[in-house]
Amino acid sequence: MKIGIDVGGSHVALGIIDNNKLICKKEQDYLFYNEDMSEIVLETIIELIYKTINQYKIEKKDIDLIGVTFPGTVSNGVVIKAENLGIENLQIEKEIKKEFNTKILLQNDAKSAAKAEKEYGSLKNYEDALFLIIGTGVGGAAFLGGNLLVPKRYSGFEVGHMVIEKDGEKCNCGRKGCFEAYSSMKRLKQKIQKEFNLPDINGKNIKKFMLENRENKKLNSILDTYIDYLSIGICNLINIFEPEIISIGGSFAYYKEILLDRLEEKLQERKELYNKDTIPKIVVAKLKNDAGIIGAVIK
Ligand SMILES: [Zn+2]
Repeated sequence: MKIGIDVGGSHVALGIIDNNKLICKKEQDYLFYNEDMSEIVLETIIELIYKTINQYKIEKKDIDLIGVTFPGTVSNGVVIKAENLGIENLQIEKEIKKEFNTKILLQNDAKSAAKAEKEYGSLKNYEDALFLIIGTGVGGAAFLGGNLLVPKRYSGFEVGHMVIEKDGEKCNCGRKGCFEAYSSMKRLKQKIQKEFNLPDINGKNIKKFMLENRENKKLNSILDTYIDYLSIGICNLINIFEPEIISIGGSFAYYKEILLDRLEEKLQERKELYNKDTIPKIVVAKLKNDAGIIGAVIK
């Protein structure tokens, strides 16, 4: 029995995986926010594991592996940096091992979700593929010839921090004009909240608002700008990797019917910029939010 944990910007998701099947799923929001979320994230993970194994009457010795996937740079069981959670050098493997003496596997969230999509989801039948995770930030992973490209030292492919606008908007990483500073769902939601004065609206209601105001000029202009920047970043990636398919996960997938066609149209328009006959297939992740927890336990 394996436990997959997906650490997100606002909550932790956990799944129990037995014989490659996800048999239950649980989520817990962070109870409060600090500039440095290290302690809160760690406590939430440990609490959620205890809660789940107690409920399902699982003994600690029956846990073969705890896989943790993190939005940021990871290396050898340590979260080197997770900007959106204000975390640096968190010894996650060591800390979880203190409570649950089993194998711990720490991976970058985009890489593990990409593995899950390649094994069970949208990328299953493709050799050259890109996976993007667009949510609080923007992460990525690439397969060439069916193999996930893995750098030796860190997790790599921090596609969210490629600059697409010189002296542009400030990013959490400290640079200006990063892809993520324009293309994360967090930035899109913030823009809609600000422009329409909806400070307390949640994700579900933002989607409803977007669907109900499809004809609204201001909303369409916000979406056009968003898609414009998103497509610039994606064009860069197409030029570098020439994927057959691009699969997008994270909360972007939840807004599929509003965003996906627009993105495809924009990429068609920009086709001549990257000198391709056809654009890659653009899809949303099949495993949706489960990709993180399923991929967390794939080595
Ligand atoms: Zn950045």
